[in-house]
Amino acid sequence: MRHFAIVGSGPAGFYTAEALEKAYGEAARIDIIDRYPVPYGLIRFGVAPDHQSLKAVSKRYDKVAECAAVDFVGNVYVGSDVSVAELLDLYDGVILATGAPHDRKLGIPGEDLPGVVGSAEFVGWYNGHPDFADLDPPLDGANAAVIGNGNVALDCARILSKTRHEFEGSDIVGHALEALERSSVKTVTILGRRGPHQIAMTPKELGELGHLEAALPIVEPGDFPPIEADEPLEPGLRKSVSLLRGFADLEANKAKRIVFDFFAKPVRIEGDGKAERIIVEKTVVDESGAARGTGETYAVPASLIVTAIGYSTSPIDHVPFEGGKFVNQGGRISDRLYAVGWARRGPSGTIGTNRPDGYEVAGLIAAAMPSGSAGDREGASGLKALLEGRGVMPTDFDDWRKIEAAETANARQGSPREKFCRPSGWFGVLGR
Ligand SMILES: Cc1cc2nc3c(=O)[nH]c(=O)nc-3n(C[C@H](O)[C@H](O)[C@H](O)COP(=O)(O)OP(=O)(O)OC[C@H]3O[C@@H](n4cnc5c(N)ncnc54)[C@H](O)[C@@H]3O)c2cc1C
Repeated sequence: MRHFAIVGSGPAGFYTAEALEKAYGEAARIDIIDRYPVPYGLIRFGVAPDHQSLKAVSKRYDKVAECAAVDFVGNVYVGSDVSVAELLDLYDGVILATGAPHDRKLGIPGEDLPGVVGSAEFVGWYNGHPDFADLDPPLDGANAAVIGNGNVALDCARILSKTRHEFEGSDIVGHALEALERSSVKTVTILGRRGPHQIAMTPKELGELGHLEAALPIVEPGDFPPIEADEPLEPGLRKSVSLLRGFADLEANKAKRIVFDFFAKPVRIEGDGKAERIIVEKTVVDESGAARGTGETYAVPASLIVTAIGYSTSPIDHVPFEGGKFVNQGGRISDRLYAVGWARRGPSGTIGTNRPDGYEVAGLIAAAMPSGSAGDREGASGLKALLEGRGVMPTDFDDWRKIEAAETANARQGSPREKFCRPSGWFGVLGR
C-alpha cells in the first residue's frame, strides 16, 4: 500500500488526488490536508460569488473526496501543526498544492495607507475568508480604483458596481452584501500600465460589464490602435479588445461608471492619513511590449484602492523557494516531494489549467513508485497519532458536509449559501 499526502484542497490538490486515485485504485491511500476545516481553496474564497456556474466545479471534487481511497483532513496547517519533513516520514509522496495566497506588492510610496487593500484581502472579504472578514474596506467615498488588467481586477470592479438585486443567486457573504448596498462608490477606475492589446481579461468577464444594471463601462477611443491592428491578435484577446471597443458605443445612462484608464503606471498613493488619490504616470508601450514612463503624471481620486497585480506562494520551512513559488522541475521538488497548481507554476491560468498539471505530477509519482510496489509508511494513522499528541483536531469530509448543510440552511433568500466566515461558525456546527 502506498500513502500520499496532498497539502492543499484547491483545484490542484483535487485534480492530483483524482489522478492518483485513477493510477493506483485500491493500492494507495490519499489524504488531502488543508489548513481550513472547509475544502476547495479559491473555489470557495477566490472565485467571484456571482459566478456560481464556475463554483459548481466543486461537485466534481466532491466525487473525488467520496472515493474510498481519498480522505479530507481539514484544520491542519502544514508548516506549523506538522512539518513537511514529518509528512515525508509518514507518506511515500508529499504533494504541495498550497496555491499562492499573498498579494504582490506595488512597491510604491503610500501603498501602506489605510484604504489600500490587496485583491486577496478584498476578494476574501466578500467571499467569507476568515482572515479578511473584518476588513471593512472604505466604501464611503465616491471614487475607487482597481490596479491591474486581469480578470481579478474585473471581478473587483464588477462586485463594487453591482446592485443588491444583481447578487441574487450568488453566495456573497451577508456582511459584504450589506456594506456594498450602502456603498457611495460611483466611479471605479481600472488602471493598467499598458494598453488594450496587453490586457489579460477574458471575453466572458469583460462582456458582463456591458450588461450591468447600474454601471456603465467607459473607454477612451484614443487609447486604441487602428482596428486593423487587432487582426493578428490571438482570437480570445481579439474578442476581448473588440468588446472593449464596443463599450465606447454604449449609451451613457447609468449612475455608476467603470472607467478603463490605460497607459497609466501608478507611481505613488497620497492622502492625509488615508488614501485619497493615486498618482499615475502616462506610459507608452515600446516594441518589446514594455510600458515606458513619459514623465507626465496626473491624479486619479480614490479612497479605496484595490491592487490586483498577482500573487505569491507562502514559503514552507526547508522547501526550496524562489520567485514566489516552490523551486521545482516539472513538478518535482526533491525525492518524493512535489508541487502542483499555483504553488508549482505561479498564479496564472484558469481552474482547468490545474488539471493537466495534477495529472502530470501524478504520472511522475506513478512512474517512480509503480502501482503494486511495496511501501512501508504509516500514512493517515501516523498523522492522526502525531496530531492528537499536539492537540490538533482535524476535520473530515463528513464534518465539511455538516458545515455545508448548515450554511445552505442559513442561506438568505435567493442565495445558495450563507457562508460562515469565522472558525466559531464552523466549529459551532461540529459541536467543538
Ligand atoms: C480572485 C480570484 C478569482 C478567480 N476566478 C477564477 C475564475 O473565475 N475562473 C477560473 O478558471 N479561475 C479563477 N481563478 C483562478 C483559480 O482560482 C486558480 O487557478 C486555482 O484556485 C489554483 O488552484 P490551487 O489548488 O493551486 O490553489 P488554491 O485554490 O489557492 O488552493 C490552495 C489550498 O491550499 C491550502 N493551503 C495553503 N497553505 C497551506 C498549508 N501550509 N497547510 C495546509 N493547507 C494549506 C489553502 O487553504 C487552499 O485550500 C481565480 C483566482 C483568484 C485569485
